[in-house]
Amino acid sequence: MVKASACISLVFAVLASPTAWGEESLILPPFAWPVAGQVVDEDDGRPCPSRHEGIDILVPDGTEVRASFDGTVIYAGSEVPSFGNLVLIRHDGGWVTVYGHNKELFVNRGEDIKIGDVIARSGHSGYVARPQLHFEIRNGQVPVNPARYLELLKAQAPELP
Ligand SMILES: [Zn+2]
Repeated sequence: MVKASACISLVFAVLASPTAWGEESLILPPFAWPVAGQVVDEDDGRPCPSRHEGIDILVPDGTEVRASFDGTVIYAGSEVPSFGNLVLIRHDGGWVTVYGHNKELFVNRGEDIKIGDVIARSGHSGYVARPQLHFEIRNGQVPVNPARYLELLKAQAPELP
């Protein structure tokens, strides 16, 4: 049985990497949905469900995952096993968005990106049984529940070809 604290420290290890954190702010940037799909609360088979700090959005494998706001990639990799292929983006005000369970990543650490940029293709990597995107909003290292902000999240239309 994996203890919840083990999961937290894994994520915090990533977040604690040498990064200049900006001034933290509780003013929420106009984040947009990274994908469109049904929001579910729990990860299937995740070892620390009690510490599930984000939301999961059910989307078919290969769905384009878009940056929720302008920012800089502070992590892109697969060192946190439960999240599979994971991207973290830092935004002004100390905000961080988290995108997990991807099939394929299109960004690298240090890359500046704009809202709506395709950063990954979704999948079911990590400890999940079905294709979904794990999405979190953090203020500094503190996870905030995106469900609190769902109604504030701006719809993001896919770019037309
Ligand atoms: Zn999740």
